Amino acid sequence: MNKIAIIGTGYVGLVTGAGMAEFGNKVICADIDQTKIENINSGTIPIYEPGLEEVINRNMKNNRLSFSSNIKESILNSDVIVIAVGTPLGESGQADMSFVFSVAETISKNINDYKIIVTKSTVPIGSGRHIVDLINRNLNNLKLFDYVSNPEFLREGSALKDFLWPDRVIIGTNSEKAYKIMRNVYRPLYINKNPIVHTSIETAEMIKYASNSFLALKISYINEIANLCESVGADVHKVANAMGQDGRISDKFLHPGPGFGGSCFPKDLEALLSISHNYNMKMETVESAIMANKKQKKRMVEKLVRLFPGGDIKKKTIAVLGLAFKANTDDVRESPSISMIDNILRMGGFVNAYDPIANNEMSKIIRNVNYFDNLYDAVNSVDAVVIMTEWNEFRSLDLKKIKSIMRGDIFLDTRNIISMDELSSLSFIYDNVGRIKK
Ligand code: NAD
Repeated sequence: MNKIAIIGTGYVGLVTGAGMAEFGNKVICADIDQTKIENINSGTIPIYEPGLEEVINRNMKNNRLSFSSNIKESILNSDVIVIAVGTPLGESGQADMSFVFSVAETISKNINDYKIIVTKSTVPIGSGRHIVDLINRNLNNLKLFDYVSNPEFLREGSALKDFLWPDRVIIGTNSEKAYKIMRNVYRPLYINKNPIVHTSIETAEMIKYASNSFLALKISYINEIANLCESVGADVHKVANAMGQDGRISDKFLHPGPGFGGSCFPKDLEALLSISHNYNMKMETVESAIMANKKQKKRMVEKLVRLFPGGDIKKKTIAVLGLAFKANTDDVRESPSISMIDNILRMGGFVNAYDPIANNEMSKIIRNVNYFDNLYDAVNSVDAVVIMTEWNEFRSLDLKKIKSIMRGDIFLDTRNIISMDELSSLSFIYDNVGRIKK
């Protein structure tokens, strides 16, 4: 049984730990945040991910999964060390590698015998070499480890499923021994098919940035098509649907909306640009995807303002439904709803906010709005309703009830999940993204 330590128990670390334990490995998830570890050990899972709690509980019971804030001991007791700490946006667009380097430093001081050191954090191309050099320096070049880049592709909201049934697992390493051990870590995955792709370290690092940037590009592209649909009188739903039926294009990431957010796309695109600048290259498609995304977020605010007579939202109360950057997560990092709320407040409006699970996370960032635990309380007496996240709960809204308890009649659906027929028949003044209005 492989003994694995995951250093950093955030979204990725926690899901990776639970998933690797589910694959039959013995896993310790370690984090410097003692409160987080104490909470998990007493049954409070820090993030919302469908199915995660059950897998964690089952594997803790089977003694395959444990949690510790003792990083040193976790390293000493494991054969495979996985680095899963954050790589946030640095000051000038590059990834901030300080957390990763600090973990590498700790590992180098606590290696007792041969280990595989794996980076799961998204790190700039070339970082693997730096991590290896840093550890080697502290080890006086004793050959005590092999290095693997094993980037993660999970999507928040379906993270566990993505980890347990991945499209592919990238194992970037120059060591045959490390490759064999990593294949063994993911053993249950290649019973029926073989999703494992063996590459060099740099290629693995590049695959992660290339994939994320391409998906973000696809979102910005369909958003721009949606915006043009509005001008030319075409329906983006039908356009995206027909495009998606073309196997060369695929229907994934072709949903127009308020712009992409989350902890990955915005920072990873900036980081890729920053890497290209280091090599005196210009990535114009990536630059444009970032720019189009910023404009899309702004465009949603402009849409809302235009729905009000005279474009005046001063002293108006707006219910913002959905705070998470996407459905099925409580993550609000870079969520388009942040820009929506900030702009409403800046223009003198008031906000009633509601999210099925992300109220708490958003209240750490934005304080001066009213948070509600119930959707219908949030829309009571408001002048306008804005849908910002595609939660299932919002797809089946009782619009008649909403209309009867609102003060106004304005409705902005930035996710295109509400029936336009129903909005029209109830005489809402409404807008959405790229659809022909009834
Ligand atoms: P996160 O901020 O949720 O978690 C990071 C954790 O690392 C925190 O719990 C923090 O306390 C801990 N930590 C920081 N320094 C530490 C140290 N020295 N020792 C031990 N623990 C330490 O981050 P995340 O969203 O899980 O992202 C982690 C990495 O995975 C990033 O590089 C990210 O780009 C990448 N990634 C994220 C996702 C995603 O959907 N969130 C998907 C794929 C890849």
